[in-house]
Formats: sequence, structure tokens, C-alpha cells
Amino acid sequence: AAKHLGRNNFQIYEMSQDQAQQQDVALISRLRHAERNGELRVFYQPQVDAGTEDIVGMEALVRWEHPELGGISPGVFIPLAEESGLIVSIGEWVLRTACAQAHAWERAYGLRLRLGVNLSAVQLMERNLLEVVAGVLGETGLDPDLLELEVTESISIKEVPNLVENLEGLHELGCRIAIDDFGTGAASLDYLRRLPADRIKIDQSFVRNIGIDPDDEAIVRATIEMAHRLKRGVVAEGVEIEQHFEFLRANQCDELQGYLFCRPLPQSSFERLLAERQRLVESGGTVAA
Ligand code: C2E
Ligand code: MG
Ligand code: MG
Ligand code: MG
Repeated sequence: AAKHLGRNNFQIYEMSQDQAQQQDVALISRLRHAERNGELRVFYQPQVDAGTEDIVGMEALVRWEHPELGGISPGVFIPLAEESGLIVSIGEWVLRTACAQAHAWERAYGLRLRLGVNLSAVQLMERNLLEVVAGVLGETGLDPDLLELEVTESISIKEVPNLVENLEGLHELGCRIAIDDFGTGAASLDYLRRLPADRIKIDQSFVRNIGIDPDDEAIVRATIEMAHRLKRGVVAEGVEIEQHFEFLRANQCDELQGYLFCRPLPQSSFERLLAERQRLVESGGTVAA
């Protein structure tokens, strides 16, 4: 039942499968109206350069605030959105909102921040994915080079027949590709070999064990080295404490994302962060996040 626990709602007892299913159906019907009712928001989490600690990019993360149920975590509603097909329109809304925002920030602050947007397997199966992305880039004016589409490793290359083709198409549009949650799928190395990825994002489950589990440390180190040998960039996710940071920096990880630097922020707070950074740059100070 843990998967059904939103942040501040739903029961804490074990549900029967039936009850769980009914709850899923009820949530899906609410999710159907979420976009139109303005219940969805995009939050942005900074990604920092491991050397300078300057903000170099951000990941767009969708949030759902239901008027009665409160905040529902993406871990709960994204799978339901995928199951119901709603992810196609929600994903497109996130993409359009985040690209427009990134372009607005580029103009306001003169910063070329890379924008990461998650794509679901369902979206990657859509035949018109390339048209949608090209359309959004055209409408919003964002430089395709600044858009990085994150593809999670749990997507099977077999289950998504046109995955490689679609990713190559996205490349041709000028976008970047990142493999998300790297190391957690069943076929990480196959993925790395077959997908036209520019970067990999080391999964939080490895980063969390830095300083705790020497095996996970070895995996993190080897992953960074392998990525670099393959001329790919590496981002570490879930960097929460100084010790993670030290280890990742010492092992040449390129970029870092995690609560140590910043939580995902609503638009207005992210803007304050950029304004503050601009003020520091103009006064000749340090720009660390
Ligand atoms: P993800 O793409 O791997 O995103 C990173 C997740 O890690 C986010 O969770 C973020 O809030 C969380 N995180 C960041 N730093 C830390 C940290 O230091 N410690 C810990 N414990 N967590 C950290 P979030 O926002 O709850 O999203 C969960 C997942 O939902 C995402 O994982 C992604 O797979 C999916 N998701 C979120 N937004 C979208 C979207 O717009 N489209 C699609 N298709 N999936 C999305
Ligand atoms: Mg991601
Ligand atoms: Mg993920
Ligand atoms: Mg991830």
C-alpha cells in the first residue's frame, strides 16, 4: 500500500487489491481534469557544476496539488498517468511550460541554463513525438541545444520499438539525451551501447550509499570513468550531504543535483535564486548555488 500514500492523504492501513484498484481509478478520473483545472505545476531543481558549484541547468519536475487531496507525489500519479495514457498530454504540457520558462529566464538573466525534461515510455512510443518537440521548440523559442530529454533506464528497448529511432530524431532536432536512473535497469550497459545518449544520470540509490557501502562507491566511480571514456557527461542525482559531494568531485563527476544544493523549487523561488546569483556575479562575488 505504500505506493498509494500521498504526502498527506489516504489510509495508512493495508488496502486490499480491490480497494487499491478503486482508488487508482478514482485518482485517474481526477487527474483527467488536473491539467485543465490548473492543478499541475512545474518545479525546477538546479544542477550545479561539480567544480565551480555554479548553476548550469535544471530539471523540470511536475507537481500535482489537488484542492481536497493535497499534494500527490509524482511517484504515485505518474504511473497512473502512464497507465491511462494521460501522460501524453501532461508530458506535453510540462514540456511546453518548462521550455517557455527556460527561454524567459534566458532572456531575463542572460543565462543559458540547460533544461532537463523527463519523457515517459508512453511518450517515446508516440509516433508524433518529434513533431510535438519540434513544435514546442518553435513556439517557445528555446534553443534545442538547451533541451535535454531524460529517458529512464527502466524502458525496455524491445518494448518501445521506435525508441532508438525517436532518440536519434530528437538528436537531429538538436536536443540532448540523458539516461535517467542509470544503473537501476536490467540492461544498463546495453542501453549505453545502443542509445544515442549524451549524458547519464547516476541513480540516487548509489549516491545515497557513498560513505556507507564500498561496493556502491566502486560502482559510482566505475560509472563515471566509463561514461567519460565513452565521451558522455555524468550527473549524480540525490546528492544530500557534503560527503557525497566530496566523493563525487574527487572522482570527476561533472554535475550534481540534490538537496545539498537545492530542492525542486516553484517558479517564483527559482527566479529569486537566479536574481540572487545575478546580483552576486555583478558584485564580483561567488556564484555557488
Ligand atoms: P527523476 O526523474 O529521477 O527525478 C529525480 C527525483 O529525485 C525527483 O523526485 C526529485 O525531487 C528527487 N530528488 C532530488 N534531489 C534529491 C535528494 O537529494 N534526495 C532525494 N531523496 N530525492 C531527491 P520527484 O519530483 O518526486 O519525481 C519522481 C519521479 O517522477 C522522477 O524521477 C521522474 O521519474 C518522475 N517525474 C517527475 N516529473 C515528471 C514529468 O514531468 N514527466 C515524467 N514522465 N516523469 C516525471
Ligand atoms: Mg529525471
Ligand atoms: Mg526517474
Ligand atoms: Mg532519476
